[in-house]
Formats: sequence, C-alpha cells, structure tokens
Amino acid sequence: MFIAHLPAGYLCARGLASRAGGSITPAMALVGMVGGVFPDIDLFYRAFFASQRIHHHRYPTHLPLVWLAITVGTALLLRAGHPIRRHAAIFLLAVWSHLLLDSVAGDIWWRWPWFDPPFSLVRIPAVHSRWWLNYLLHWTAVVEFGLVGVAAYLEWSRPVFFGRWRRPAA
Ligand SMILES: [Zn+2]
Repeated sequence: MFIAHLPAGYLCARGLASRAGGSITPAMALVGMVGGVFPDIDLFYRAFFASQRIHHHRYPTHLPLVWLAITVGTALLLRAGHPIRRHAAIFLLAVWSHLLLDSVAGDIWWRWPWFDPPFSLVRIPAVHSRWWLNYLLHWTAVVEFGLVGVAAYLEWSRPVFFGRWRRPAA
C-alpha cells in the first residue's frame, strides 16, 4: 500500500481516542499519522546506505517480531495513567495497521526469523509496463482509496485539524 498508510494512522488515532472515551486532539491524530507511515523510513535508509536489491520489508521497521517486542516493552514500561501512554498506544496501533496493509499486496515477514517466505494476501500481476498502473488498476486500490475517503469524510464531518477554518452552521 502506498497512500493508505497516512489515513489509516489517522483512523487508528480516531478509533483509539473514541474507544478510550475521550476526544481526539490534533496531536493524537498527528501521532497516528506518523505511526502509520513510520515503518517506511527504511526506504530512506535503503536509498542512501544499503543495497537496492534487498526488499525494504526485510528491515527491522517492517518486522512484526520487532514491533511485538516494542509493543510489549511499551505496555510494561508505560503503566496506566502515564502521560504518554495513550499517544504511544496510538503510534503502535498505527504501526500495526501499516504492517497489515503492507500484507495485502506486499511481502511481510510475519514468521521471521523462523520461516523465510513472506506473507502477501494477493499478488499483483505485472500486466502494465508502468509499475504504478499495476497497483492503481488492481482491486486493492479500492481499499487504498476507500481508507482515504473514510478519513477525509470523518475530517470533514467531525474535524480534528481543519475545524477552525470551517464556517459555523447558520
Ligand atoms: Zn511499508
């Protein structure tokens, strides 16, 4: 997935804030969006420091076992009532959403380090010469644009970031 990570992180923040019974703040939504794209920072590492032949999903920021350890460690360190606990939970939920979305049509090594083959729900066939057209014209694009649409609708109907620019109802 390419464009779904940002809105998915936003939706994670909204969902978790709602479930916790509080209202979402712009900071929470921003943390969710950062968490939603965070695993892809390995693209910068690969671009400047590593071999282009290694799939970037093999780096630690895309390995579920690494995030499981971080999630458990965070849960143990940040007990209930800790001031950043909710933000940390939003960030980690958004990271997990990234791994799930990447598992739809990308390769994620869910069983690393025990088994090598990665998991991908579907394989997108290379039928068009431009690689991005293969993704854009595949049914998984509906999931991507659907998440963008849901996030945009929620931001429009119950704004977190853009409420102050909306005209008050007459
Ligand atoms: Zn990714």
